[in-house]
Amino acid sequence: MRCKECPEPAIIENPQLCQAHFTDYFESKVKKSIDEFGLIERNEKICVAASGGKDSVTLLYILKKFGYDVEAIAIDEGIHGYRDRTLRFLKKFCSENKIRLRIYSYEKEFGKSLDKTVKKGEPACNTCGTLRRHLLNKHSEKYDKVATGHNLDDESQAVLMNLLKAQKKLFSRQGPKTRKIKGFTQKIKPFYFLKEKEIMVYAFIKGLNVPFSECPFARLSYRSKVRDALNKYELIYPGTKENILNKYLSIRSFDNQETNSCTKCGSPCSGLECKACRIQQRIASET
Ligand code: SF4
Ligand SMILES: [Zn+2]
Ligand SMILES: [Zn+2]
Repeated sequence: MRCKECPEPAIIENPQLCQAHFTDYFESKVKKSIDEFGLIERNEKICVAASGGKDSVTLLYILKKFGYDVEAIAIDEGIHGYRDRTLRFLKKFCSENKIRLRIYSYEKEFGKSLDKTVKKGEPACNTCGTLRRHLLNKHSEKYDKVATGHNLDDESQAVLMNLLKAQKKLFSRQGPKTRKIKGFTQKIKPFYFLKEKEIMVYAFIKGLNVPFSECPFARLSYRSKVRDALNKYELIYPGTKENILNKYLSIRSFDNQETNSCTKCGSPCSGLECKACRIQQRIASET
């Protein structure tokens, strides 16, 4: 199989490109998203929400390569045998690439790790995701934007999940860049239009050597069922995931954003207290 742009052998089937042309394709797609959606201005200070997985590590690598002022924040949920490993890799990567890394843990911030908060065999992603977003927001105040490694696969799953659960509020919060809301650091997703597989290939070409690991709670999540269903659709109808995102962007509206401030922590929310504070109260009461 030859590259569609030159006589070199292709290293990937779709798009059918050799190593050099795939690298160009990947980097121009990231640049295009940054320019088209106004994700980053040259004078801005960006923090990458880094987990130590391939997406966030590749994002750190490429933003640094493009010359942006970038630092990393990681959240240690306290998931034994998983997060400790990814953070070990992240620390090494950041130190080798001279990227400042700050780590905040559930244990220190909420008094309990995720492993101690959620019973074995129970779904954890709802609690975990809410607390992580809360900490990220709290500790990213001094940055202009928080960049996440969410890719086309993640984002098409999120659109579908919110549709299936009729979560109108969350539905309006997606897209490559969130709207400016007082109390929230703006979130950007430079990999919005890149497939998970493409990020893997780019990370491999660049020799990033990110070890693969999966959170032990992931298979219990609602998302994992949506992911499997969507992957089946993509096989039968190639382009489904990209279509979902394009259709979503064409109908997205910014209605129903939070207008209140949480009476406990001041974060924007729709009721009196935000979800993260309600979860923290539950954790405290169970101690
Ligand atoms: S898969 Fe779920 S439990 Fe694991 S880190 Fe992600 S959100 Fe947290
Ligand atoms: Zn080529
Ligand atoms: Zn709160």
